[in-house]
Formats: sequence, structure tokens, C-alpha cells
Amino acid sequence: MTFPVVGMVGGGQLARMTHEAGIPLGIRFRLLSDTPDDSAAQAAGDVVIGDYRDLDTLRAFAKGCDVITFDHEHVPTEHLRALEAEGIPVRPGPDALVHAQDKGVMRARLTELGIPCPRHRVVADPADVARFAAEVGGFPVVLKTVRGGYDGKGVWVVRDAEHAAATTEPFRAGVAVLAEEKVDFARELAANVVRSPHGQAVAYPVVESVQVDGVCDTVIAPAPGIDPGLSLAAQELALRIASELGVTGHLAVELFETRDGRVLVNELAMRPHNSGHWTQDGAVTSQFANHLRAVLDLPLGDPRPRAPWTVMANVLGGDFPDMYQGYLHCMARDPAVKIHMYGKDVRPGRKVGHVNSYGDDLAEVRERARHAADYLRGVITE
Ligand code: ADP
Repeated sequence: MTFPVVGMVGGGQLARMTHEAGIPLGIRFRLLSDTPDDSAAQAAGDVVIGDYRDLDTLRAFAKGCDVITFDHEHVPTEHLRALEAEGIPVRPGPDALVHAQDKGVMRARLTELGIPCPRHRVVADPADVARFAAEVGGFPVVLKTVRGGYDGKGVWVVRDAEHAAATTEPFRAGVAVLAEEKVDFARELAANVVRSPHGQAVAYPVVESVQVDGVCDTVIAPAPGIDPGLSLAAQELALRIASELGVTGHLAVELFETRDGRVLVNELAMRPHNSGHWTQDGAVTSQFANHLRAVLDLPLGDPRPRAPWTVMANVLGGDFPDMYQGYLHCMARDPAVKIHMYGKDVRPGRKVGHVNSYGDDLAEVRERARHAADYLRGVITE
């Protein structure tokens, strides 16, 4: 067999969909998963069950892989440095990935590069939060643990001095706490790019990402009504970050669009990302296929959209455990809607799948995606 083996650490839906994207190319896929029941472990043939926090487990997993990449950013940075020192290609490498692992490191580096971010500072305790608020013109402020957060877990909004004094939880997590001004943004955007080791890079259209309770709910590609200059600036910013940080693979740059038409960087993800799921059905080359091409240092695929509008709606677990029952209605009502399910047990609020729809009319495309996601979830019954 001359085809390379891509090893992916983490058995979530991102690994499941990356695996899927490699199949038509004959790329072999090896997975390191916590349990055999994880989303990707259900679908992949070559699965190692083990703990990604253990260096020996990672070493044994990497044997026989041509390159290692990730479904999440939680592998300890020092383990990645150890693997790299042993000659294993790690993509993205630890020097890049640390900026997606540690929000403090990310803020410091982006500020050094002159990339616009919310005003921020690492804070020591609740009293320091009040001092930070005074420095940025008052409350509310946002507190984030620098490591370990996801989907809004690890993010606290502090209303006033009294609330600051009472907000001790972030300081108990055992990692540094970053305070940020609370940006009064018009909306959230994402600029997604893919960069390969030899320096080729492609940029997807800038999308709008609608969050509900800190979790991505809907993504619209391209961001409706975005100023073409701002869109181009956001793509250039993401390409610049990818290049300056030496990112290999997919990079999602989550952005706030300010009311006066600027963008500020919220955070970085160096792996396929929820804001790029629309590309599976709405772009010539999906983020998953391009992530694989990039980590293998192959020429990248065309990132252009296939239709004027694509909308992705996440399917979150609701009270209704049987999602398959909804297929009959959704597929009969809309033969063009694309359903992607992750094989995960339904729990309230958990991302268990998403749907994509695309077409010429935004309102219609959006309604179709919304309807299917809500129906599968059991929020609507007709
Ligand atoms: P996570 O790592 O959990 O995804 P984020 O840093 O992306 O955390 O924050 C989650 C959400 O919280 C963001 O999508 C945004 O809606 C809100 N948020 C985060 N930081 C700020 C900020 N500085 N100002 C305003 N809202 C913010």
C-alpha cells in the first residue's frame, strides 16, 4: 500500500467527517479515540482506544501513521513537542496549535502582530477583574479560562463589581483567567482558511455564525450583506494569521463584526470547525477534504461556493430521542436538504448532527435548513 495513513487524535464528529472525506481519495485513516462508542470510532476501521493525555499512548498510536492531526485541541502541548522531536509530522505543529489551546498565548501573539482583538488582560482574582473593568471603561466584562473551554463552557460574563466579587469559579479551574471587554458586536463571523506545509493557502467565503447560549446554531455562507471590503479584509487577516503562526490544516478565525464595520478576533481553532460544515454540500471542496490535503501537503482544493447561499443548521439534542423517525418527513418534504448525523446519543443541548441546504434565495434556503433541524429535534411536528 502506497497510500498514506493519517492519524487523527480525538473521536468526535470532526474526525468522523474527516475520515469520510478521505475515503474517495483512498487515504487511510487511523483514529485515537477515548471509547469505542465515540462518533468517529463507530465509523472508522482502524481505531486505537486510549488516552490522548498519555505520551506513551500517543507514541504507540503514531507508529505507522504518516502524519498526526487533531479533532480537538486538548492534547498537551509538551506531548506534541515530544512527538515532533521524535520525527513524527504533527499538523498543525505545537508552535501553531498552542495558539488554539491557550487563549492567553493567542491574545498576546495576535496583539504583537497588530491584529485587532478585544481589549484584554490576564487577571489574578475577582478584585483584579474590577480593576480591569475600570481600565476598559466599565462592566460588563467577559472572563475566560485560558485553557479547556469549549461551546461557551469556560466563559463567564460579569455584570458589575458585586458580581465580579462573587465570580470565583473561573479562578478555581487551576489555569490562568483572561478578562476581555464585552464587545457590543453586530454579529459573529468566521473566516476559514486552509494552509499546507509548503505554504499554499485557500480562503473560504466569510460566513455569519449565529450563536444561541454560547453554542453555534446556524451558519450562513456567505455572511448576508457583508461589505465586500470587510469580507476581503477578514480573509486576508485569516490568511495572515495562518502564515504568521505556521498553521497547517484548517484554521477557523472566529470574529466579531463591530457596529462600525470592523472585525475583532474572538478565537482560533486549528482543525475542521462547525462554521465550516456548510462546505460539505455548499463548496467545491469541503473543509474536511482540504484539511486532509493540507496535512498531507497535497495541492489544495477549490474553496469556492457551489450556490449563491448555503445555510447550515445544527441539530441539538432535545427531549425527543429518536431522530431517525424524523427522516421520513424531512426527506419527503425537501429532497434537496442534506442531513449529517454523528451517531451520538441525544442529550439536551448536545450537538448530534447538522443539516445543510443551498440555493438561490436566502430566505428560502434558511427556512429549509431551520425546518429540518427543528423537525429532527422534535421542536416542531409538521
Ligand atoms: P469557546 O471557547 O467556549 O467557544 P468563546 O471565546 O468562543 O468560547 O466564547 C463563546 C461565546 O461567548 C462567543 O461566541 C461570543 O458569543 C461570546 N463572547 C466571547 N468573548 C466575548 C467578548 N469579548 N465580548 C462579547 N462576547 C463574547
